[in-house]
Amino acid sequence: PADAVDDPFASLNPAQRAAVEHDIGVAPADARPLLVIAGAGSGKTNTLAHRVARLITSGADPQRILLLTFSRRAANEMTTRAGNVLHRIMGVRGGQAPATLPWAGTFHSIGARLLRDYAGRIGLDESFTIHDRGDSEDLMGMVRHEIGLTQTQKRFPLKGTCLAIYSRVVNSRDALALVLQSTFPWCSEWEAELKTLFGAYVDAKQEQNVLDYDDLLLFWAEMAADAELGLHIGGLFDHVLVDEYQDTNRLQAAILMGMKPGGEGVMVVGDDAQSIYSFRGATVRNILDFPKQFAREARIVTLDRNYRSTQPILDASNAVIGAALERHAKTLWTDKVSTVLPQLVLIPDEAEQARWVCNRILEHRETGMALKAQAVLFRAASHSAALELELMRRNIPFVKFGGLKFLEASHIKDVLAVLRFAQNPSGRVAGFRVVQLVPGIGAATATRLLDAVAESAEPLRAVEQFAAPAKSGGDWEQFVALFRALRAPGLRWPADIELVKNWYLPHLERMHDDAQVRVADVEQLARLASGHGSRETFLAEITLDPPEATSDRAGPPHLDEDYLILSTIHSSKGQEWKSVHVLNVVDGCIPSDMSTGNSDDIEEERRLLYVAMTRAKEHLHLVVPNRFFIKQQAQMGDRHVYAARSRFISPAMLKHFDESVWMTADTAQSRKPMPESVRMLVRDRARNAWK
Ligand code: ATP
Ligand code: MG
Repeated sequence: PADAVDDPFASLNPAQRAAVEHDIGVAPADARPLLVIAGAGSGKTNTLAHRVARLITSGADPQRILLLTFSRRAANEMTTRAGNVLHRIMGVRGGQAPATLPWAGTFHSIGARLLRDYAGRIGLDESFTIHDRGDSEDLMGMVRHEIGLTQTQKRFPLKGTCLAIYSRVVNSRDALALVLQSTFPWCSEWEAELKTLFGAYVDAKQEQNVLDYDDLLLFWAEMAADAELGLHIGGLFDHVLVDEYQDTNRLQAAILMGMKPGGEGVMVVGDDAQSIYSFRGATVRNILDFPKQFAREARIVTLDRNYRSTQPILDASNAVIGAALERHAKTLWTDKVSTVLPQLVLIPDEAEQARWVCNRILEHRETGMALKAQAVLFRAASHSAALELELMRRNIPFVKFGGLKFLEASHIKDVLAVLRFAQNPSGRVAGFRVVQLVPGIGAATATRLLDAVAESAEPLRAVEQFAAPAKSGGDWEQFVALFRALRAPGLRWPADIELVKNWYLPHLERMHDDAQVRVADVEQLARLASGHGSRETFLAEITLDPPEATSDRAGPPHLDEDYLILSTIHSSKGQEWKSVHVLNVVDGCIPSDMSTGNSDDIEEERRLLYVAMTRAKEHLHLVVPNRFFIKQQAQMGDRHVYAARSRFISPAMLKHFDESVWMTADTAQSRKPMPESVRMLVRDRARNAWK
């Protein structure tokens, strides 16, 4: 009876239970692949965590479970959830201690780890460093310059676009011509040059012993495809479980198939209606093809009960996704009745939007809802600017996800570049940045030094013997001393970062007026560093899954404080809050102006709105500002436009919302009313948007 009361599996519904119990007791080598495909909030992630716990109670070795998720946060959360289930079971039955899962992480971080272990076997030098997107763009720019494409061809795509094309080719496994035609048609005329460029880019990465994000998947896929190595790596794991499978790309599917050709022990969960990463090469085909991709056919489990949201929130969300061109009929139900409809509020402009949202948030808090139980979501990281100002003005603490990353600050980049250069002196992007921090050294001298390092078998000697310009004098000597110390064999992490800090701080003060804020960031980086075991794991992890909150202005709140969550919709996936505000639910934003091109893009924007709405448990507020600030192409300048409610909420769907219009007294006084003609225009546009 104690079991019955405390059995954590008792709360699962029959379909969830079927997934959790799938082939338990069957030898791992004979287990069939399993696909759980189901809508938002139906307990996919929860089921996955329970299955991990169930596997462990049935004797699976936690060391041999591979758990792949889309962020470190998600991996930690899943490990915790599985641990909690184990705890409850233990409490009842006694038994083994809850295990940690050493192989839980993103595809990229697990790829990096495997590559570190097997670098030698595939001809890589194990001191490789990993480039983040910015570094990769810089290298692409350098290579482009070297092969002379910048000077001769003015209209040649920018380095960022080149990298995006390259990345798309690698991740989709499609030919360059096809990628250009389907996704970058305006670059098609450069196919031959791009081919040359990408060839040179790949050579440069190999010469410099650096890997970009795509390489982490690419090399893993290559290892998995190798008859011997693939079998070996697949053999490390009895169970491979993947969350959010709808947002994986072809390369990731190839990795799974390479490791487990029979699909034995493979479980993936996902929701095709939430696929929102096709701009990165993710394809919903992965989830649709999964059942027949392996030697053994997969078992499919669907879940249709939603445990997250109230019925009115679910009705509105179902209406939005139900209008999708490609309908995968799957309507969720819940027993959470409520009389509170999702709110659709029309507001004069973004400044008012910020004020209104703050008011609602404080109201919710008055009723006892913690800030942490609330989130504000938006299409692009820049859209929260007005709100951030207002929150600061009112002293409402917040943390922002998916925005400008900590790592993008130039002083953080400097420190990391020094560590990378010490780790791998062949890396020219890091080297170029670092050497030029020394006063008196410019691009030409830096290039000469890096050439000397590249030609020498002993990087330290090459640096020591380099004839630096006389004007660098003592500064150069200090740099050489730092480099020597960082390359010394006995150095114990995180002593490295202290050395770099002491060397760097005087330069920081020399270069920046706001050095104080930046020093605090460097201190924070040093604190982060001490939580890692070695320079290489720290560099890999911080590059692959950077801390997201920026410490500009007041700095992020302490983690034990109560704070509001601000997040891009993309970064909000998988999560849930009691109350959710979605900003700028207007045409031009959702769907974004950038993507109103073809219907596939538009459909992805619809799914994005669906993802945003289905994050809400009890209260959902969609805000529609009448005037919306649009950042435009450089030549046209930024401007305000009159906006209309997003086309994804058709008049027929309005019955699912509580519609209101908000005009504050001070708006009425301080601002001229909108001309009648404009108001008519807005109304008409809104009315006609779906005709
Ligand atoms: P998403 O598609 O957004 O990732 P999901 O399908 O992964 O959602 P979960 O996050 O696993 O859904 O679950 C949503 C909520 O429902 C969570 O709060 C979870 O604890 C709860 N839940 C899931 N299954 C059950 C159940 N059988 N009984 C009670 N609550 C449940
Ligand atoms: Mg989930």
